[in-house]
Amino acid sequence: MARSKLNRRATAGGRTSLGSTAEPPIAYRVAMSDPDSHEFEVEMHVPPLPERATADIIFPAWAPGSYLVRDFVRHVYALTITDDRGYHLPHERLDKQRWRVSSGGHGFRVRYRVFAFEQSVRTSHLDRSHGYWNGTSLFFFVDGELKRPCEIAVQRPPRTRWRIDTALPPIAGRPDHFRAADFDELVDSPFEVGDHAHAAFSITGVKFEVALYGRTNADRARLIQILRRVVIATAEMFGGKFPFTRYLFIIHALPVGSGGLEHSASVTMDITGLSFEDEGGYQRFADLAAHEFFHAWNVKRIRDAVLGPFDYTRENYTRLLWFHEGFTDYLANVIILRAGIIDEKRFWRFIADDWPRYANRPGRSETTLAELSFEAWIKLYKPAENHVNRSVSYYEKGLWAGMALDLLLRRRTSGRRGLPDLFARLWTSFGRHDRPISEIDVRNAATQVARAPMDDFFRRYIHGTDELPLPALLRTAGLLVAERPEWAIEAEKPDGDRDRVKERRLRAWTGIALHPDRLLVRNVIPDSPAWRAGITFGDDIVAVDGHRVAPATFAKRIADRNPGERCRITYFRRDSLEEATLTLAENPERKLIVKPDPDATRPALAIRRGWLGV
Ligand SMILES: [Zn+2]
Repeated sequence: MARSKLNRRATAGGRTSLGSTAEPPIAYRVAMSDPDSHEFEVEMHVPPLPERATADIIFPAWAPGSYLVRDFVRHVYALTITDDRGYHLPHERLDKQRWRVSSGGHGFRVRYRVFAFEQSVRTSHLDRSHGYWNGTSLFFFVDGELKRPCEIAVQRPPRTRWRIDTALPPIAGRPDHFRAADFDELVDSPFEVGDHAHAAFSITGVKFEVALYGRTNADRARLIQILRRVVIATAEMFGGKFPFTRYLFIIHALPVGSGGLEHSASVTMDITGLSFEDEGGYQRFADLAAHEFFHAWNVKRIRDAVLGPFDYTRENYTRLLWFHEGFTDYLANVIILRAGIIDEKRFWRFIADDWPRYANRPGRSETTLAELSFEAWIKLYKPAENHVNRSVSYYEKGLWAGMALDLLLRRRTSGRRGLPDLFARLWTSFGRHDRPISEIDVRNAATQVARAPMDDFFRRYIHGTDELPLPALLRTAGLLVAERPEWAIEAEKPDGDRDRVKERRLRAWTGIALHPDRLLVRNVIPDSPAWRAGITFGDDIVAVDGHRVAPATFAKRIADRNPGERCRITYFRRDSLEEATLTLAENPERKLIVKPDPDATRPALAIRRGWLGV
């Protein structure tokens, strides 16, 4: 994710004199002479570093924005280090990712190959269809020289006319050469090289480019229109201006894909290419784009001090990911609503569908949001089987915390100000001046927006594990909100619509969650009937009451019985056939109903109007 102070300033208002252009750059070259080998050929030339008898070269361990040590060096092969005349230079490997080069202060050249066969937003991929890279999985840096300017030359595969897209500015007069203010900017600027589709549009003089790789059934003009709307609606939250002069969307349309990785002047988004058979595909695309584009402010420029410049060698701990990711996830929904991509009805449905998923999670109140963020490296990014029972994602909980704070601020200000105003403040006071934030600054901004102390919110929901009062807050915005089990909702329907068979069959509950389309147990809710009967993760169910079941019939056979009745489940555990008898309970999982209250009071309507901003 990051950019240094230097190039943040550079993107905001042109290069400053700080990075003296006289300083010789570190020059990289990336070739791909045999895409079928999936190996990039990389060369790094380090200029003379007088006064340094040795120089350490280090390969990054992680990619900013994705909080996991990935040890990218595991894909490095055929490393050679020579001096400027081509003679082998003595060097020693000090640890998995660090080499000490005895350069005697002279320039030297490092050549190596990188196996690039992981198609994700945070890694690199090369085959005959394209080359894509994140600098963190391709480039060494020189210890102590992160601030030095970088250059990169790209060599296409032989006999191709692949186009090269990146947010880095080209170097005038040197085709296929690009310049980065420093290593942070170099690795914060992914490259897409191939024969992908390309489009561009401009808004208030800022050029937006789109590199679309892969096969999709989406209407491309509509994708561009969505991006345009998202970009405008997001900028409106920050005074209508962009913090860069050029921005690149790299979109990978894959067989299966969802997710993005934000950068200062670009983004990579993986989408499922053939998922545009209905509106849902476009809405998911818009939601992802809004999330990622909001990051151009939140986390890339409004950021915790440890999130840029980075330490690429190890974990960079922050307690603010609920703010950087969760609040971003929440505001993405507001942005696509304000952009007219979804309507109010869809917005209520998003709350009704997603809140119960969160509110039914057994692990949602075990750990504070601040701690969930801190331990991202070992928990969210390395989830164990029991993650859902003992933990929750700071994306998910952070989203609801963001909505709760927005509604609290609206309530204090009769709907006039809310979470977008908090971000506008942090941008004006910190991000724009390249000053990092801490949680105190977020808290102070909330207090300023509310014109009342907001410490209680942070104490209870960020550093405490109090249940988020979302249903109550939704009611203050003039909404009718009810939380009930699904069978109770069925029972309340008017006689003509009420399905008594369905109502009865919705009640019986085991506490077992299966992997999609399989009979493999993904989770067992603590203290549920299945938990008490000893069924656990990975058990492979074959029969209910002695009759074989399939993924589509397991729930139906459970529903044949009433709560309180006993039920026999047969399963394989590590190839041994076992059986458990459990006493079914009544399904405790609650659904949410959200709809506008026709009798909402004027203050409630003011809150709702300010909140939605439409
Ligand atoms: Zn994000």
